[in-house]
Amino acid sequence: MKCSTCGKKTTPKELWVKFKCPACSDAIIVRCERCKKLVNQYKCEKCGFVGP
Ligand SMILES: [Zn+2]
Ligand SMILES: [Zn+2]
Repeated sequence: MKCSTCGKKTTPKELWVKFKCPACSDAIIVRCERCKKLVNQYKCEKCGFVGP
């Protein structure tokens, strides 16, 4: 699994989250602990949706 925001590989030790894109519900968004904390924006690779 790779973080959708920073592209960093997630490790099982980290508290990362995985959820479906709220716009197209087709792509899977992955956010690492750091990006979640910093509220970095993510971008869906399929539909281009950008969310907090
Ligand atoms: Zn990240
Ligand atoms: Zn999408």
